[in-house]
Amino acid sequence: MNRFSIHFKPNGYVNPIRMTSQFLGIPLYKVNAFFVDGLLIDTGFTFGRDRFLKLLDTLHPEIVVNAHHHEDHTGNNFSIREKYGLLPLAHPRTFFYLQDPSQWLPWYRRLVWGCPPPSETGELDSKIQTKHFLFLVIPTPGHSDDHVCLYEPNEGWLFSGDLFLSEQMKYLREEENVFSIIDSLKKVAALHPKKMFCSFNGVVDQPMDALHKKIEYLENLQKGVEEGSRQGLSPREIQRRLLGIGDQMGFFTAGEISKKNLIHAFIKNMPEYPSALLGG
Ligand SMILES: [Zn+2]
Repeated sequence: MNRFSIHFKPNGYVNPIRMTSQFLGIPLYKVNAFFVDGLLIDTGFTFGRDRFLKLLDTLHPEIVVNAHHHEDHTGNNFSIREKYGLLPLAHPRTFFYLQDPSQWLPWYRRLVWGCPPPSETGELDSKIQTKHFLFLVIPTPGHSDDHVCLYEPNEGWLFSGDLFLSEQMKYLREEENVFSIIDSLKKVAALHPKKMFCSFNGVVDQPMDALHKKIEYLENLQKGVEEGSRQGLSPREIQRRLLGIGDQMGFFTAGEISKKNLIHAFIKNMPEYPSALLGG
């Protein structure tokens, strides 16, 4: 029932590997891994293992890095270790998450991506040297506490993992920290990247513009939440006003990814806001 498509077209040094999960013929979600100069950034999702490994047979990766522990970035860590003897490198906390992904992976995400078997990661150094390039490892928590970006300073390439995703996010995961996301966006914007390689969007040609728009959007959203609460609106009313009616994503993910999480993340940061009101 689950289908998987993979798209790879070699194009210069940085090559996106776009993978799409389908269920009953409906495309569910996409993710990009990247292959650059022997370095594989992320290992896709478990349902796509056979075709992903077939592609890697032709690419011959020498170093593997995970941007963070989520199952669409680490899904084939185990198989890559088994087949090529390569130990994926990641933030130290990633190791603990990957000891048993079935402990934290919700059912709907298993349905979309598959559940990765337990695997091990090695600890990332502050730099990764490939034949032609030097990548700096930039800790960028927020989307997850183990999230890292890679930055090649001479080329201005930023591999942003799931830090950027979209200019106007309407949803937040329960475990995400929106203030850390804003700090991490500012941290990578300060590097003045010339090109961004996003796990969701693929290549972003105007990264500074995109990063600033996202920072501005989130800061304006925070102001809107604060303004709404000063006017005495309930969290639900603030949500409707700022993010529109309905929250299908919240429904389908049993609240794990929702508009409510995003609004509540800002409200929880307001010392004057009575916590009892967050129940609404
Ligand atoms: Zn993620």
